[in-house]
Amino acid sequence: MKKRYEFLNLGAVNAPYMPEIERAIGRVLASGRYVGGPENDAFEQMLASMTGKGLRAVGVSNGLDALRLIFRGYIALGRLRPGDEVIVPSNTYIASVLAVTDAGLTPVLTDPDPQTMNLSAEGLRRALSPRTRAVLTVHLYGRPAWDAEMEAIARSHGLTVVEDNAQAIGAVAAEGAFTGALGDAAAFSFYPTKNIGALGDAGAVVTADAELANTVRALANYGSRERYRNEYAGFNCRLDPVQAAVLAVKLPHLEEENRRRRELADIYLTEIRHPGIILPEKPSRGTHVWHQFVVRTADGIDRDAFRAYLASEGVQTDVHYPTPPHRQRCYAELFAGKDYPVADALSATVVSLPISSCTSPTDARAISAIINRYTTDKI
Ligand SMILES: *Cc1c(COP(=O)(O)O)cnc(C)c1O
Repeated sequence: MKKRYEFLNLGAVNAPYMPEIERAIGRVLASGRYVGGPENDAFEQMLASMTGKGLRAVGVSNGLDALRLIFRGYIALGRLRPGDEVIVPSNTYIASVLAVTDAGLTPVLTDPDPQTMNLSAEGLRRALSPRTRAVLTVHLYGRPAWDAEMEAIARSHGLTVVEDNAQAIGAVAAEGAFTGALGDAAAFSFYPTKNIGALGDAGAVVTADAELANTVRALANYGSRERYRNEYAGFNCRLDPVQAAVLAVKLPHLEEENRRRRELADIYLTEIRHPGIILPEKPSRGTHVWHQFVVRTADGIDRDAFRAYLASEGVQTDVHYPTPPHRQRCYAELFAGKDYPVADALSATVVSLPISSCTSPTDARAISAIINRYTTDKI
């Protein structure tokens, strides 16, 4: 029987941690503290200290809520106002844009650099207007998408810089800091498929700004800092302590998990040699954490036919993402008449290859060889 190369198997990803996870969950069950408490405090401290000096972390329900709470936090503090423009890369997961519109802010999309598939200084400049007040950079696929040039643009225009760090936990930017410590506030997601995943939904806000951290914590807790006193019309977006306990088991293994992804990426980058397949670019400085290993089909190569070939060879793949936010029905009016040709081209040509801890280096070599054997009469 032909070998199957699974895209992702979460049971296998979590298997090595299970004995420790079961002990951690058992501790929560026995504690009688089922909302907040010491598990959350310990996880928040671990995440903050791993991300950078002087940071605070607030555990929340998921990555989208982390982003929503950051923007709503800035509005509650009067630092952003409804209608303010927020620059967002056009090639992103819909959640980045949902958080901006949820807060009553105006997302201004900008096409990414086609090579990095991420926000660039040029893209940022192109989207600036007198109403721009913030930028939401997304370290998409695990590639840091913030540098000194973008920082200089943001500072000279007085922009608030928010990072969507859902896909890049543990990545290091060219200038040496971890993603999540590059801007004014960052959202993390611990959705089960992320580089560090919970056993359900979980997320966090990380910031050096104590005022914002306190406001986010209040907003996530009915808008209350003190019991039965409600300063804001808030929400219930708290982190489940069971998930906090699971994450405190997995977080210390972040480097190891990311190192394994880098090893697989390096194999793909050296072994895939096919004129019809465009490889992702490895940053020359800093580190990519390869949440996804995204190749593109070149002109004249049909992406879906290529995927069908891989499937027939037992290689499961995925597409991140088949429909960009500006083409989603929910935003048909907001982005009507706007054109994002790079995002459109990416959505038609990207293919994500298996790159999790259930893919071995031998698998990555075999997958590369399968790709190199792909023949089409068009090339
Ligand atoms: C996963 C993800 C989110 C949302 O995180 P959830 O925890 O699933 O809500 C936001 N932005 C990006 C780029 C993501 O990949």
